[in-house]
Amino acid sequence: AFRPADRIATLGVSEIVQIGATAAAMKRAGRPTIILGAGEPDFDTPEPIKAAAAAAMARGETKYTALDGTPGLKAAIVEKFRRENGVAYKASEITVGTGAKQVLYNAMMASLNPGDEVIIPTPCWTSYFDIVRIAGGVPVAVPCAGARGFRLQPEDLAAAITPRTRWLMLNSPSNPTGAAYTEADYRPILDVLLAHPQLWLVADDMYEHICYDGFRFTTPAALEPRLKDRILTVNGVSKAYAMTGWRIGYAGGPEALIKAMAVVQSQSTSCPSSISQAAAEAALTGPQDLLAERAADFQRRRDLVVAGLNAIPGISCRVPEGAFYTFASCAGLIGARTPEGGTITSDRDFCAWLLETADVAMVPGAAFGLSPYFRISYATAEAELREALARIAAACARLS
Ligand code: PLP
Repeated sequence: AFRPADRIATLGVSEIVQIGATAAAMKRAGRPTIILGAGEPDFDTPEPIKAAAAAAMARGETKYTALDGTPGLKAAIVEKFRRENGVAYKASEITVGTGAKQVLYNAMMASLNPGDEVIIPTPCWTSYFDIVRIAGGVPVAVPCAGARGFRLQPEDLAAAITPRTRWLMLNSPSNPTGAAYTEADYRPILDVLLAHPQLWLVADDMYEHICYDGFRFTTPAALEPRLKDRILTVNGVSKAYAMTGWRIGYAGGPEALIKAMAVVQSQSTSCPSSISQAAAEAALTGPQDLLAERAADFQRRRDLVVAGLNAIPGISCRVPEGAFYTFASCAGLIGARTPEGGTITSDRDFCAWLLETADVAMVPGAAFGLSPYFRISYATAEAELREALARIAAACARLS
């Protein structure tokens, strides 16, 4: 019989993926399931980006490329960091991978020794924990309460640091909470980092371009030059340009780390897809007005979902500053009886019950490390969102 390696024996396929698969199977079977699980924009990759990919193919750019990114794409990323973030990286400080996920994976594989600790504020994107584990590290969760805006508090960070701590992972705006860090939020955290020279920082800026109400996005490498040589600034084209399937992510960071990450990449994928790199270069160098339009679009949906959720007794939802997720509490429904004779004892129960009886798929907060909450991805057509909210409200009204 197959025996999995110890390093993955305790890991499973992401709960988000599993819920998505169950919901998709229900839909195929003819049920009117609305899926609010997946973390991807619902619009198509813009035409000029697709055209750039087709042109690259026509030019014969269908071969292996430079290991961690073509010179053209790296130059576009250098310019992106300068233009949008005010951070000066050299091309030698840039890496490109098959999605930001691979970039994060490369970073952990390149830097962690067995037992090294990585501080991860929770709730967080589910992959952080398992990437650290596969790389032999130990994820250290630091809970961030809804009452504090789901943001890491400097005293909690300081208390979690040990001599084994190598990294802190920060994600702003956050998946799953949509919480984002202002300059003032970052400052005391960066001060803790300054006081601990062995501690490096991953700044996962994946949702940079999806911010609301005029929120001023900023990134740690821009705020604290003294930390720049300990920061890996991670970003990508998946969420900003609706390019999840193209699989291109990138990062800027100190050259020694970037080189070590290239070693990992050289023995896993050799390089990201040549065609996707041409497309990503076009995305970063082309017109950018679409970013603000999309964000305005998402803001309308956010308002719709937050208002709809807060109108349901037992549910309460903080207004997120960014990303396309709401992370609402269902604390008021724990212990409620369902008409079918069951009891809602957890957020997992709540989500399973809604999927079964209301055909709405959402991800329980437990998957991200905080209960009792549930995440809605509102990167979905408004009509579907309205219908889903109506179903959730009607279902909750039947609880006693
Ligand atoms: N970081 C965060 C916080 C995410 O939510 C995701 C995707 O869901 C990623 C990174 C990875 O994105 P990709 O691998 O598509 O670039």
